[in-house]
Amino acid sequence: MIQLTSAATLQNAITKARTVKPRVHVNRFGSYAVTNKQTGATYTVECMKRDGKRFAHCTCKAGERGQGCYHLVAAVSAHLQLAQERAALNF
Ligand SMILES: [Zn+2]
Repeated sequence: MIQLTSAATLQNAITKARTVKPRVHVNRFGSYAVTNKQTGATYTVECMKRDGKRFAHCTCKAGERGQGCYHLVAAVSAHLQLAQERAALNF
């Protein structure tokens, strides 16, 4: 589980996400299956908000070590977009 503070701490993962362009499937709001289309490897990323702070966790090896991986970045990006849409629709 890592706390999402600034994009700077995730810069390497952001760069990798842009290169790999993983597929993000929405399991439900806050839970995403991220697939590397080249290898077929799929990991689950959970996003949550606690006390106004954003957290995310990925089930891959890097994620288990508490590192920000590109799966996490891809899922968080989809999550924030979804959250914005929900807010706009006033759910
Ligand atoms: Zn990961």
